Amino acid sequence: MRIDLHTHSRLSDGTSTPQELMSAAVETDLDVVAITDHDTTAGWRSLRPADVPLGLTVVGGAEFSCVARTEDTPVSVHLLGLLFDPDNAALAAARTRLRASRIERAQLMVARFAADGARMSWDEVAADAGDAVVGRPHIARALVRVGWATGIDDAFTRYLGQGSRYWVAKTQLDVIEAIGSIRAAGGVSVFAHPRARRRGSIVADDVIVDMAAAGLGGVEVDHVDHDEVDRTQLRILAADLGLITTGSSDFHGSNKTVPMGACTTPPESYQAIVTAASGAEPISGTHP
Ligand code: AMP
Ligand code: ZN
Ligand code: FE
Ligand code: FE
Repeated sequence: MRIDLHTHSRLSDGTSTPQELMSAAVETDLDVVAITDHDTTAGWRSLRPADVPLGLTVVGGAEFSCVARTEDTPVSVHLLGLLFDPDNAALAAARTRLRASRIERAQLMVARFAADGARMSWDEVAADAGDAVVGRPHIARALVRVGWATGIDDAFTRYLGQGSRYWVAKTQLDVIEAIGSIRAAGGVSVFAHPRARRRGSIVADDVIVDMAAAGLGGVEVDHVDHDEVDRTQLRILAADLGLITTGSSDFHGSNKTVPMGACTTPPESYQAIVTAASGAEPISGTHP
C-alpha cells in the first residue's frame, strides 16, 4: 500500500483541482491520498465515492496554521487534522477566522509591494486565487508575473520570509488548543514537518512532549524538508511518546517541485489513524 497523507489542491495554495490531484495519485500508484488544504475542507468535503477513482481512497483533512508558545519566542507550526467532522462548528469557525485573516494579510503585503513599485494589485492576486484560500504562494506568483522574482522559490527567498520588510503576520491557532479542537471534532492531529528549518524557526522536543500530552496523534517524519538525522530523532521521540509516524509529499502541484508520493506513510500508521478517528470516513472510490 502506498499512502501519501498530506497534499494541497488549488482550493488553497496547490495548483491541481481535487480531480487532478486524484488522477495524479492514481498515476503515481498511490492507494491512499489525503487532501489537506490550508485552513479549508472545500476540496474534499463534497466528494462522493463515485467522484473518486476505483482503487483510490481519499482521506479528508486540513493543515491548520498554528503557533507554539514556547518559553522564548512563539514559533509558527503547521498541524494536520485528519478525518475530523467537517461540520464541527468550533473547528469550522476557527477555519473561517484563519481564512479571513489570510485575506487581510495578503492585501497588506500586496499593498507594500505596490507601494514599492511592483505592478500588482490585490484585485489581480485575488483573481488568480479565485475561490482558493489565499497564501503567500499566490503573492509569489504575482512577483514572478511582474518580474520581481524568477520563480516561486526565489520570491520566497527574496521577499516573502518572516525577516522581510514585506512580511505580515496572520492569525494562528494556539497549537495546544487546536489539538483539542481537532480531537473534539473526531479527528487525528499530526504535527506537520516539525523539523522544516527552511520555513523558519523550529520547536524544541519539549514542545512536542507538551503537544503529545494535549492529545497529539502523530508526527510527520518522512518529509522532503527533513534530513536523515531529523527522521531518526523524530522516530525515536515518537516511539517514546506513543505517537503515530507519517510521511507525505506535501504536494503543491507546480507551485513546488516535489512530486506526489515523494514520501509515504506506513500502512500500520494509516490503520492506526483510521481506527482512532471518528469524525469522517475515508472515501473509497467507485468511479471505474
Ligand atoms: P502562508 O500559508 O500564506 O503563510 O504560506 C506558506 C506556504 O507557502 C507554505 O504552506 C508552503 O507550502 C509555501 N512555501 C513556503 N516556502 C516556500 C518556497 N520556498 N517555495 C514554494 N512554496 C513555499
Ligand atoms: Zn502550502
Ligand atoms: Fe505546511
Ligand atoms: Fe502543507
